[in-house]
Amino acid sequence: MRAAAAAGRFALQRCGACGRAQYPPRAFCTACLSDNVEWEVLAFAPGTLLARCRLHHSNALRFRPALPLDLGLVRLDAGPVAVCFLAGVPAIGAGVTVRARLDVAGHPVLDAAA
Ligand SMILES: [Zn+2]
Repeated sequence: MRAAAAAGRFALQRCGACGRAQYPPRAFCTACLSDNVEWEVLAFAPGTLLARCRLHHSNALRFRPALPLDLGLVRLDAGPVAVCFLAGVPAIGAGVTVRARLDVAGHPVLDAAA
């Protein structure tokens, strides 16, 4: 996941037994408990914005320069729901595109934009 994010690509897992996509990654499929989970790497993941909020305070020092931050819950078309940073302020129910990147601390994060 980190390698894909470093390349600007989005990675999620798909179960080889039942076909379900899952995010965040797990050692086993959360639907059928199969350990036959494979990475699926995409340029981006389409989804729908379910909810959003504006973060005005963070205990994480790396986020403070960027406050206020807009965060959203996005239902990916593949099925899972992911927490994403929002670019702009898409309306609830709007179609968004989710892309992955590494933040300044080297952690994979997701950005969603209309
Ligand atoms: Zn499964």
